[in-house]
Amino acid sequence: MKAGVLYGIKDIKCVDIEEPTLKSDDDVKVEVCYCGICGSDIPRVNAGSAHYFPIVLGHEFSGIIKEVGKNVKNVKVGDHVSVAPLIPCDNCIDCKNGNYSLCKNYTFIGSRIQGGFAEYVVVPSKNVVKFKDEVDFKEGAMFEPSTVALHGIRCADYKDGENVLVIGCGTIGAFTIQWLKILGAKKITVSVRSQRSAELAKRLGADCVLFSTSENFVDEANMVTNSRGFDYVFDAVGSQETIFDSFKTVANKGTIAMIGTPIDEVKFSVKMWEYINRKEFHLTGSWMSYSYPFPGSEWTDTKEAFETGKLKLDDEMINKIYDLENIENAFEDIDKKKPSGRTLIKIKK
Ligand SMILES: [Zn+2]
Ligand SMILES: [Zn+2]
Repeated sequence: MKAGVLYGIKDIKCVDIEEPTLKSDDDVKVEVCYCGICGSDIPRVNAGSAHYFPIVLGHEFSGIIKEVGKNVKNVKVGDHVSVAPLIPCDNCIDCKNGNYSLCKNYTFIGSRIQGGFAEYVVVPSKNVVKFKDEVDFKEGAMFEPSTVALHGIRCADYKDGENVLVIGCGTIGAFTIQWLKILGAKKITVSVRSQRSAELAKRLGADCVLFSTSENFVDEANMVTNSRGFDYVFDAVGSQETIFDSFKTVANKGTIAMIGTPIDEVKFSVKMWEYINRKEFHLTGSWMSYSYPFPGSEWTDTKEAFETGKLKLDDEMINKIYDLENIENAFEDIDKKKPSGRTLIKIKK
């Protein structure tokens, strides 16, 4: 089969490798349709943070069930599925508590074992989430980022707050906006850096858009909340700037959830530290997207929201689609252009 194999830093090529076979009676074989390039794949390819070489990455994918093991009951050949990439140990204290995202001994499809930049992937049947044929395979490849957004909202113990701020309108930000809307937020403000993102945020349900590049950003945010601050802030970026924007704009006793993946070091000034004390806000992180029963309601709610059309894949959320043969160019272009939408690899012709 064809697969995009990563051999070393910036050395990814589409080559022929052996097609995987079922390893247990609980496994299924998925013929991959689309696989997204996650923000976390970029340093794995371009900066050498992959666990080993050679490896086939890709953990955001959809496909068709091609083969099922003897014990498999949840799907049959021909079903359309998205794949939850985490394989938790099921034995550690976090797994026992249903916090699979925090598992200490997990493996992961597409970062530790073969992923979706390939024609076929063999995965445990409990990792596949079946969706109706009406849902597009491109949407199926976007289940994972949607679940990450929803998990972040759950980590913040979100209750329908009056004033919500989402920082960033990349893939995770775009899903966070949509989920907040679905969950009944009354007023959603989004902070962005570009006009394109501003328009996307509005199409997805933002009531108000702020430009984080504005000199008067904090004053403008205060105007939205009558100087109370936002009850919930979701940082879907994770930079020094956005973390401080969240400290400055959150309400007293409010909640900040960090969903973004940090890339650079963050330095705290006394002033910034003071915000934490003076506002007595709650700050939480968010990691992956799983809950009990595995893979969790993040996944079943995502599937349902796509099936009912509540969640949308706006064209602007997709940067570009490349064939598997051109996977090398996809990563080169991302490195050069740093696009904000998802780049997808189209695998099944
Ligand atoms: Zn991802
Ligand atoms: Zn575990």
